[in-house]
Amino acid sequence: MQTDKPGQGKTQEQLVDQYSRTISYLRLSITDRCNLRCLYCMPPKGIDSSSFVKCLDLLSYEELLRVVTIAVGMGMNKLRLTGGEPLVRNGVMGFISSLARLKGLEDVRLTTNGVLLHEKAAELYGAGIRNLNISLDSMKPQRFQEITGADMFDQVWQGIQTACDLGFNVKLNVVAMRGINDDEFADFARLAAHRAIQVRFIEFMPIGNKESWDKSRFISANELMGMISTLGTMEPEGYRRPGVAGTMDGAGATAPGSQMEGPARVYRLTLPDGQSGRVGFISPISHHFCDKCNRLRLTSEGRLRACLLHDNETDLKAMLRQGGTDYDIRTAIQQTILSKPKGHTLQDDLATSGQVNCHGRMSRIGG
Ligand code: SAM
Ligand code: SF4
Repeated sequence: MQTDKPGQGKTQEQLVDQYSRTISYLRLSITDRCNLRCLYCMPPKGIDSSSFVKCLDLLSYEELLRVVTIAVGMGMNKLRLTGGEPLVRNGVMGFISSLARLKGLEDVRLTTNGVLLHEKAAELYGAGIRNLNISLDSMKPQRFQEITGADMFDQVWQGIQTACDLGFNVKLNVVAMRGINDDEFADFARLAAHRAIQVRFIEFMPIGNKESWDKSRFISANELMGMISTLGTMEPEGYRRPGVAGTMDGAGATAPGSQMEGPARVYRLTLPDGQSGRVGFISPISHHFCDKCNRLRLTSEGRLRACLLHDNETDLKAMLRQGGTDYDIRTAIQQTILSKPKGHTLQDDLATSGQVNCHGRMSRIGG
């Protein structure tokens, strides 16, 4: 019999897709608005306010909570809030506190540009967040401004310090761009070795603001690993004994057995001075992590998306606003899971047509 109660019926099994992946992780883009204009994410002149999703078209916190409650009832247990910049949306702390009370939701994380972090970190901690991904592509104030359009490096840096002091588990996301910030990768890696911060280098993707992308700016994760490994010794995290087959088939410059943390391959970097820290490499383009992908995304206007790089979406907002039952929402989630593609074809698309089949704005999808 069909039921309207979330959690009834077989859980977990509903989360397994056609390729035997268990989809346990939901990313919510709670707003497409942002207080920065990163060159790879937003158009060069920024976007005028009429292009943003109208407030009424964003899912309300009640609607978001309903979707999350249903997803958690199905067995999903990890959530990330992203955007746009999640900390610019009014009422976000109350929303996080409600999420923290949801039984079965084990982990709520946040991705932020750090601009409002100094001001909001203590509240975030109080609301139950322990893990923060902070995006930072340069530690040079002038360059930070060129990349993000805002003279806010000091503010972001202060936010990072505050988050570390409060005891958050902090990961820094660095988009690797040749000719833009490649002279700073060593400094970022040293930061990871000297502070309790994991630094993750992300391949520059031709999505978001596609005009800013060109092949010559792209640096593959293998090349990045090659650069970072010259700084000291790099051992895969979770590495037990030499020769154990790892997850890194085909990834030339790396040792086997590195730990996959979500999409990142993580290594312990030890510098000649004996200091060590964790560095990660996220290679959506050169080395698909699709076979390990465990996520769904909900866009800022309530469309459920099975893959960052495929534009197929299910309009959950329409269902929520047209009297859809919990059963309807659950079925839509399940169908989206079943429609999840085996992998993306970004590299092939680029090689054949030079075009990419992902037209969504990053700030809408949430990265
Ligand atoms: N505003 C928040 C932030 O910047 O951390 C959250 C949203 S942002 C869209 C999420 C992540 O996507 C950021 O780490 C950002 O660097 C990354 N990102 C956006 N566009 C990208 C692109 N074209 N290539 C690689 N990473 C990208
Ligand atoms: Fe804003 Fe994040 Fe996009 Fe930068 S990457 S413009 S901080 S949403």
